[in-house]
Amino acid sequence: MDAIETSFKDIISHSKEYGFIYPGSEIYDGLGAVYDYGPLGVELKNRIKQYWYGWMTRMNDNIVGIDTAIFMHPEVWKASGHVDAFNDPLIDNKDSKKRYRADVLLEDQIEKHLEKANKEVAKAAKRFGESFDEALYRETNPRVKGYLDKAENLRRKFAAAAEANDMAALKDLIIEEEIACPVSGSRNWTDVRQFNLMFSTQMGSVAEGASTLYLRPETAQGIFVNFLNVSKSNRMKIPFGIAQIGKAFRNEIVARQFIFRMREFEQMEMQFFVRPGEELEWYEWWKNRRMKWHQSLGLGDENYRFHDHDKLAHYANAAADIEFKFPFGFKELEGIHSRTDFDLRRHEEFSGKKMQYFDPETQEKYIPYVVETSIGLDRMFLAILSNALREEKLEDGSERTHLKLPYFLSPVQVSILPLIKKDGLPELANSIRRQLAGDFAVQYDEKDSVGRRYRRQDAIGTPFCITVDHQSLEDNTVTIRDRNTAEQIRISIDEIATYIEPKLNMSTAWRSIES
Ligand code: ATP
Repeated sequence: MDAIETSFKDIISHSKEYGFIYPGSEIYDGLGAVYDYGPLGVELKNRIKQYWYGWMTRMNDNIVGIDTAIFMHPEVWKASGHVDAFNDPLIDNKDSKKRYRADVLLEDQIEKHLEKANKEVAKAAKRFGESFDEALYRETNPRVKGYLDKAENLRRKFAAAAEANDMAALKDLIIEEEIACPVSGSRNWTDVRQFNLMFSTQMGSVAEGASTLYLRPETAQGIFVNFLNVSKSNRMKIPFGIAQIGKAFRNEIVARQFIFRMREFEQMEMQFFVRPGEELEWYEWWKNRRMKWHQSLGLGDENYRFHDHDKLAHYANAAADIEFKFPFGFKELEGIHSRTDFDLRRHEEFSGKKMQYFDPETQEKYIPYVVETSIGLDRMFLAILSNALREEKLEDGSERTHLKLPYFLSPVQVSILPLIKKDGLPELANSIRRQLAGDFAVQYDEKDSVGRRYRRQDAIGTPFCITVDHQSLEDNTVTIRDRNTAEQIRISIDEIATYIEPKLNMSTAWRSIES
């Protein structure tokens, strides 16, 4: 089977056509960077949650779950530093009136220099063939070296400006690099300004007596403020983790690229509490383990890479992203952060409650250090969907749209198709559907030819299609077609469940992480 590349546009339109994702409030022309999940989307999303949450809480015996409120006491966000420091540097182009994040413009520019260098290297590799020494070429070819130096120079200056929160320096770099607005093409920029990303709202029935609340920009703080509750109620011993899936809200300056950057999104976060001094070891451990979790999905190891942060957030002493190759390039999918004791210490200061843990092994009291793994559920959804969608040419010359999802994530697991709509075939097919429905996500479809129905199921990623034909009435057997290979076998109706179950469970993939 030959795979044909699909574009980002194809992914967006496929999502809508088959009921994965719709633009939010679409009949009112949509709402910026807000999306709704359709019937198949919610199924896929729930399975991704299960793959993350199940692994965290079942395959790690020292991690428990929690589900905390979106509304939190306003002091939480002062303690966490979000009121003062949860800002992005924004810049406007005066001609197009378009708004950009200054840091993103500069990061893209670094990437451009690197791409130019890579292109030169690829050209040379073609020219020299077998004898090509890439490392040597990168070091010695003046043109390649020029691009690499430009990238490195800019990276250093950018890191220094960002570290110092120097907005004027960020603007200078944009001017120096001659970065133009992609819409107007002009370099007519405003100054760079800080912009706080938190949404606020009022609690209370009358405006005067109301207090201002923030919609949480991350789920982590709900875990920190419950650290004592969880450790006491569940007798947790350090090291241990608390995992949570929930909505987060950020008033993103530039929200684009579909569900990659939304204003309302979901996070899957786990805070791992450790002894002070052991955090960097755990940080490395979690980096490695989270990468293995990603690889267990089978989307291709080459589609992931680590990116260590140059600029550390105010709370971190080490941080890295796991980046994924989205249709628009490698971008952050998950963050692993060593958050020190910053959050718990600040909550102790602001709330006046001791956030300490008594370690029965060392007989010491201390504020634990924290290693966090934080992943956007919607970004994970996009990573999986964009990786899965492909157009294929089959051996018989026909083409199909194939959503090559991991079997255990597919929104519909089995479809039941009576060959024709008469002769008692629909009745038998329906009885098989009822038999399987309690254990599997089943869909019944009797419209159109079987070939067309196969195509429809391939396009939504259904692993197994069961066809009920006249022979089924005689000997209680059906054909079962495997999505990936398009091969069919004939099995007895009683054997369907035992045949498909091992191919659909998550535990096999989870176990591969441990090996
Ligand atoms: P970015 O640099 O892309 O803005 P971030 O570094 O601010 O992301 P974190 O604060 O580390 O992100 O959040 C953890 C995870 O939450 C990210 O890795 C990402 O998957 C997800 N995430 C963050 N912001 C958004 C958003 N606006 N829409 C969707 N997912 C998001």
